[in-house]
Amino acid sequence: MSKKKLQKIAITGGKGGTGKSTFTVLLTNKYLNQNKKIVLVDADVECPNDYLLIKQKLNKPQKNIYADFPLLNKQKCTKCGVCVKACRSNAIFQATEQLPVFLEELCSACGTCWTICPEKAIKTKKIKTGQIFINKINQNFYLITGLAKAGLDETGPIVTQLKNFALAFAKKHNADYILFDTAAGTHCPVIQALLDTDRAYAVTEATPMGAYDLNIILNLLKKLKIKTKIVLNQADYGNKKLITNILKENNIKKIDQEIPYSKKIVKAYSNGELLNINI
Ligand code: SF4
Ligand code: SF4
Repeated sequence: MSKKKLQKIAITGGKGGTGKSTFTVLLTNKYLNQNKKIVLVDADVECPNDYLLIKQKLNKPQKNIYADFPLLNKQKCTKCGVCVKACRSNAIFQATEQLPVFLEELCSACGTCWTICPEKAIKTKKIKTGQIFINKINQNFYLITGLAKAGLDETGPIVTQLKNFALAFAKKHNADYILFDTAAGTHCPVIQALLDTDRAYAVTEATPMGAYDLNIILNLLKKLKIKTKIVLNQADYGNKKLITNILKENNIKKIDQEIPYSKKIVKAYSNGELLNINI
């Protein structure tokens, strides 16, 4: 079987609740109607919900995600505090003249502390930070879901591992498109999901908050040099000028896709039947 070029597409938006996941499922349906093979990756690992929108239950986890976490050798530690000062995540606490304590929830597993420790007093241990689930919806459609351990502060590394896993899976299954439904915002997990994609859809709504957050995500996409298309959800509500003004400031000519407010879409969303809606 000849290998196709895999198109990597991100669906993102600065703000939560703008219809990002709704558009992701609608786009999936559009490609499925064109007889394309899709791997959809729910990269909103703190709160994945794509499976609910297509009436699925997550299958048994396919893979666990692990990260290195610092482990102190108390005999070697001189309590110098170098690691505490170097940790940018504030994940190391040290009371006066006491040994440092490492806070798992805040640690990003960056490795700075065990690299910088002058006494080589920090070893590492593996801890489970997340899980990956695969749901085969039909012959042409797989959903891959990432889920971070509850309470974890830094989920960027989980998205990176999820993405590598999903890309290898999509290539092995000769998919036409891999879609990454990112988290909202512009923080590390969003950046990890966006990196190296061929294009992104920025989903927004015509409200002051929608316009403000659109501007932020467009700046990020510009920095990452990702070709961007604009999707306006609930397009017949709010003040569209707010959005067109932001597009003008960012030298973007037009809104590429408008999704009207529709009871049919809201009902399908609530019933997990979005895959039946054509756009
Ligand atoms: S840098 Fe090393 S020796 Fe210094 S406090 Fe941290 S663990 Fe201990
Ligand atoms: S691995 Fe990085 S984030 Fe974690 S405690 Fe060490 S320096 Fe801080």
